[in-house]
Amino acid sequence: MRLSAVVALAVLAVATPSFAAPKAAAISDAAERKMVATIDAERERNVQLLEALVRVNSGTMNLAGVERVGQMLRPEFEQLGFQVRWIPMAKVGRAGHLIATHKGDGKGKRILLIGHLDTVFEPDSPFQGWTRKGDIVEGPGVGDMKGGDVVIVSALRAMHAAGTLKRADITVVLTGDEEKPGEPLAVAREDLIAAGRASDVALDFEGLSQAGGKDVGSIARRSSTSWTIRARAKSGHSSGVCKPNAGCGAIYELARIVDAFRRELPEPNLTYNVGVILGGTEAGLNAEDTGGQASGKPNVIAGEAVARGDIRTLSPEQEARVRARMQAIVAAHLDKAEAEIEFSDDGYPPMAPTAGNRALLAKLNAVNATLGLPEMPAGDPANRGAGDISFVAFIDGLVGMGMAGEGSHAPGETADLTSLDRQAKRAALLITRLSREPRAKP
Ligand SMILES: [Zn+2]
Repeated sequence: MRLSAVVALAVLAVATPSFAAPKAAAISDAAERKMVATIDAERERNVQLLEALVRVNSGTMNLAGVERVGQMLRPEFEQLGFQVRWIPMAKVGRAGHLIATHKGDGKGKRILLIGHLDTVFEPDSPFQGWTRKGDIVEGPGVGDMKGGDVVIVSALRAMHAAGTLKRADITVVLTGDEEKPGEPLAVAREDLIAAGRASDVALDFEGLSQAGGKDVGSIARRSSTSWTIRARAKSGHSSGVCKPNAGCGAIYELARIVDAFRRELPEPNLTYNVGVILGGTEAGLNAEDTGGQASGKPNVIAGEAVARGDIRTLSPEQEARVRARMQAIVAAHLDKAEAEIEFSDDGYPPMAPTAGNRALLAKLNAVNATLGLPEMPAGDPANRGAGDISFVAFIDGLVGMGMAGEGSHAPGETADLTSLDRQAKRAALLITRLSREPRAKP
């Protein structure tokens, strides 16, 4: 889930002007000056924390490793006055979540900060360890998203040093299974959803999106849900295939359906993949949902066919519309054939590009102006896969508050340390400003 396409064009990075933020002195607000100065002063501390976290393997299914990373972050929050809880998730076969809450004056916006502790690199992955070459660090999960977890800590430490944390109501939720969520999702994400219900704004610290070497804002994420089509038809001797008496069989019926999907459904921000297809006299999916088996003969009309695929949309309305159109296509059966489509409810919902999210990006750009950083345009949501913030898309949100990097989910993953400072400064000022805004809900 994931950060599917952090587009960081290394070649362009060389040509792109550096993000040299102005010295703190240029900033008019004393507290904001203090936050920027604190982050600059604590640069090496942040890098050491990141190295320590990356050196501990926390592949999602390495439950002890995920919990260890959680326990390493616990004191970082406790020393800033947060109440920290570890929520075990054995009930869905996962490690658990770390939740840290800071009670402020109860007047300002309640801010939810989202991250995850796990990575896609299990202990048997050859990609372990940490290397640093100047501002580029390499290691499992360094960009996705232990760097983002350190951005959260660095921003909150700066707020603490500047005295702006005191009055802020903040909840931090670091899930332990973002890369391979436990099931049912409704249980695996109930604590995150509850934290969202008790908040006004959500900031997700997954990797920073870049386009052409420039930072962009992320106001939307697409959903990730799946579907299954099962087709059945009268089987028989192939000499009569597609004749009125025999019909064309289940494979032609399924081929009709997926081809109609390809030709008739395209629209902006929508993708729908067919990941596996099986057909024959008999055909079925295996329990692991990783394929299946089919048997049949060239001279026998296929009696069964099955396919699995996904849908990625940008809004609940688009999801509903596409599902209805798929249903209609499936229902237009060939003669003597039948089929039905089943949609999984256990998927990631979309985070639509709402007016509230755009307004939040505008506030982030006001912070960029204060910091002397370039304006961040809204990035293309199709470039980001599904992610945890979508579970709280009922409140205004921004994603991509974490570090910039390359090659996430693959050996050789890197992150750019200059983005750590930049993002920590952005987050510290934005969270502080939001915490001073009157609360949306009583
Ligand atoms: Zn991630």
